[in-house]
Amino acid sequence: MTASPSDPGARQEPYDLAVVGAGSAGLAGAVTASELGLSVVLLDASAQTGGQFHRHPAPALGARRPEALHHDWSAFTDLRRRLAGSTVTHLAGHHVWSTVREGDGTWTAHAVTGADGTAGRPARIRARTLLLATGAYERQLPFPGWTLPGVVGAGGAQAMLKSGLVLPGRRVVVAGSGPLLLAVASSLAAAGARVPAVVEAAGYLRYARAPLALLANPAKAAEALSHGAALLRHRVRVRPRSAVTEVHGTDRVEAVTVTRLDADWRPVPGTGRRIACDALAVGHGLVPQIELATTLGCATRRLPDGTLGLALDDLQETSERGLWAAGETGGVGGAELARTEGELAARAVAARLLGRRADEDRIAGLRRRRDRLRAFADVMSAAHAPGPGWQDWLTDDTDVCRCEEVTAGRIREAVTELGARDARTAKLLTRAGMGWCQGRMCGTAVSCLAARGGVPEPPAERRPFAVPVRLSALAALDEEPADPHPRTS
Ligand SMILES: Cc1cc2nc3c(=O)[nH]c(=O)nc-3n(C[C@H](O)[C@H](O)[C@H](O)COP(=O)(O)OP(=O)(O)OC[C@H]3O[C@@H](n4cnc5c(N)ncnc54)[C@H](O)[C@@H]3O)c2cc1C
Repeated sequence: MTASPSDPGARQEPYDLAVVGAGSAGLAGAVTASELGLSVVLLDASAQTGGQFHRHPAPALGARRPEALHHDWSAFTDLRRRLAGSTVTHLAGHHVWSTVREGDGTWTAHAVTGADGTAGRPARIRARTLLLATGAYERQLPFPGWTLPGVVGAGGAQAMLKSGLVLPGRRVVVAGSGPLLLAVASSLAAAGARVPAVVEAAGYLRYARAPLALLANPAKAAEALSHGAALLRHRVRVRPRSAVTEVHGTDRVEAVTVTRLDADWRPVPGTGRRIACDALAVGHGLVPQIELATTLGCATRRLPDGTLGLALDDLQETSERGLWAAGETGGVGGAELARTEGELAARAVAARLLGRRADEDRIAGLRRRRDRLRAFADVMSAAHAPGPGWQDWLTDDTDVCRCEEVTAGRIREAVTELGARDARTAKLLTRAGMGWCQGRMCGTAVSCLAARGGVPEPPAERRPFAVPVRLSALAALDEEPADPHPRTS
């Protein structure tokens, strides 16, 4: 149920379980925990459930076939039906900016409400356990012209299409690295855009290095084949081992230069070719969104593509007792893995709180599926790990931090002249990463530049505020005791 201030369902604090994130992982976790007898609150910044994968148009847009752009739509409608029939309190439009462990061992989630977090009063929700299912965000590697209007994130283009039914342009080049590019290109083409090329920096043959993980996951190969067939039908050309190394245009995108890359992602001289387009959808993989957990001190692990995910035990618990995580927070692996982990975590929470033996057969099956899908996720992550040569795409006047307008030249100067050796020092010397997005866009690039060709330290995902919060929301914390009846937008 979606709670309103008068809902009795909003008056159960402390809940047994608070789930942050209503994507595949959070939904599966919330409905499973509720079906096992726990009182559950499910918070999400978005107005709708479904997360990134199952984004869908608002009812006001009157889409006749919201499932048209989705694989696995029935998995989502099944979770949505179970949520509607459950006692879960669903707090939509709740942006959780901090989670805190109280002296009595319970957790408080602090949230601001409304579409952009500025509506109504801030909310405080208390629970005995927490499940973080906050997904991932896109990794961007800069190149000359990437800040021109008409350049959008690859996942962002998919989100525009799935939730707003709009295309970023009529002729859209899709570029970067990762399996998401194929999904995005086939959606754009199916929706009527002309896609002159999918430009993938990695080589697909790298998948062949782990034949066992491939053989164990035939459904993944089938999904890739179905995207491939859709691209063939729409005559979309896939260019592996290539990158968009420059965007051209005065007021917006008019063309891109696509260049062949060597195995380290270094441009091969003389191979640049111009392709006319009016939009570029670009992304270089996904980064787990884990600030809420790392700010609490949760341990992390380095993933094969150089990003950080949460270190989890066999039942999805983080290094902080009572705090579980599922889905992309532990490493990017897709919606089926996210659902599996969400259910596994919920069963572990229920066993702990109810003091009952868990259903061992079900748990064993979930673990096996999780391990099989995780093995594939690790192969995928390694195959698309950025090579160090991407830095050769940059010119000194390329903006790296677009919020603070810090160029590659200034960061290089901070490294070579002023002795910066890590992203944090580069940030203090140049302001790169201090703007609105708090380094989510430029963090990877700044770490790579600071490492001077060595192995970069992944940007530390420690931020006291996981989302932007107004001072008035902080001031309200002093005005009231913890609110036993969370208000919703
Ligand atoms: C932009 C983007 C587009 C994607 N598109 C596709 C696609 O088309 N196809 C595909 O196979 N995979 C796609 N993915 C990958 C996809 O995210 C996963 O495969 C799958 O959705 C993972 O499920 P999840 O539950 O872990 O995370 P998500 O589905 O991402 O769900 C996370 C949820 O947490 C919420 N959240 C995050 N932080 C907070 C906070 N602080 N407070 C409150 N709520 C919060 C978000 O609003 C979101 O609803 C995309 C990823 C991104 C980042």
